[in-house]
Amino acid sequence: MIDLYQKTRHCRGCSHPSSGLKEMIHMNPMPPAGPLNSSQEIALKIAKIPLTLLQCQNCGLVQVQEILNPHFQIDQTPLPTSQFKGLVSHYTEFANLLSERYELNKNVHLIEIGSNDGLFLSSLPDSWNKLGIDFESPGSLPTNEKTQWIRDPLTKALIDKFHIDGWAHVVCLTNALRNTEEARLFFNTASLLLIEGGEFWIEEPSLDLLLVDEQWDLLNHSQANFWTLASLQSCLDPIGLEYVESFIPSYNTNVQRHVFRKGVPVLCENSFEGISPHLLRIKAAYEKRFDSLPVQKTLEARRMGKKIAAISASRRTQVYLNQIQILPIEYIIDEIPQRQNHWIPGRGIPVVPPDFLKKYPVDFLMVSHASELEGYKEHFPDFKGEWIARFGS
Ligand SMILES: [Zn+2]
Repeated sequence: MIDLYQKTRHCRGCSHPSSGLKEMIHMNPMPPAGPLNSSQEIALKIAKIPLTLLQCQNCGLVQVQEILNPHFQIDQTPLPTSQFKGLVSHYTEFANLLSERYELNKNVHLIEIGSNDGLFLSSLPDSWNKLGIDFESPGSLPTNEKTQWIRDPLTKALIDKFHIDGWAHVVCLTNALRNTEEARLFFNTASLLLIEGGEFWIEEPSLDLLLVDEQWDLLNHSQANFWTLASLQSCLDPIGLEYVESFIPSYNTNVQRHVFRKGVPVLCENSFEGISPHLLRIKAAYEKRFDSLPVQKTLEARRMGKKIAAISASRRTQVYLNQIQILPIEYIIDEIPQRQNHWIPGRGIPVVPPDFLKKYPVDFLMVSHASELEGYKEHFPDFKGEWIARFGS
């Protein structure tokens, strides 16, 4: 029998042995969030595994201890980025930002690592020389004299083979570090692509942002690494990539874009002894989750005989409902057809289409974060009950 998961043996950022990894938070065993189940019976019987977040005492990277065996992971094949409407606006905005920043240099050489179906590169100016490197590229990529593609993993041997050592003025890495192992070695290889003074862009979901409102339900098994600016710096400083500045994209506020510049290696001065105080806040919020206002309000509503449904069968909803098993939820509304007529793993709560609400009305609707409320209120204008946000105010 194959093990469901393996425990992290060394830091996934700086490769230090696991003795330097300190426990930040340990959550109750739950099914890996992501895939929904096709029957309630399966959903209630599914295997549960613990979720422990560790912080490296050397580089500060927060990482999951229980790494799912690839055999049990889903979403292995990346979908073409251009299929997602939100991502088209996101990458157009990113391309505009770069065009303005480097407009004086008409002959920019830019490399994107993890170029997917080429959506981002094709949004950049036609006059630039662009190279996409992606070993699991999902779709057909348009090639022309200014745009080239390499479908292999980035290694030193690949850089030598294609003579791209010091070729690029700009290297971009978007959403590519969630599950990277030995990140510092990877950064070291990537930095070889840059000229001296060239800029390295990293766009990644940010633990710094997740910490706002202590949104502990965003922690799950599908992402192994949770980067902060400080942990990125401690992996990049020693290889000579110096921090310049950060941006928050307008279309995806859970990610941050950081710019680093290739220069001289320095010793990182960040210290990560113990667990960072801001990380302890998330642990405290998790441990006091049963006392939180949304949970108390929901339990009180149930005592009064009221009915409660939730919106979105997302990973975070699955995490939240598995960690608070006593929360009485009738059903989950989700507009994604592939999710409907499925069940929430570990809880066996049915996932239904939005029109279900008319047939089986409830008194309360629960959403993940207060910032989503306005959008959902517009989406469900006929709902006259009360809204509950799990996080934010
Ligand atoms: Zn480390």
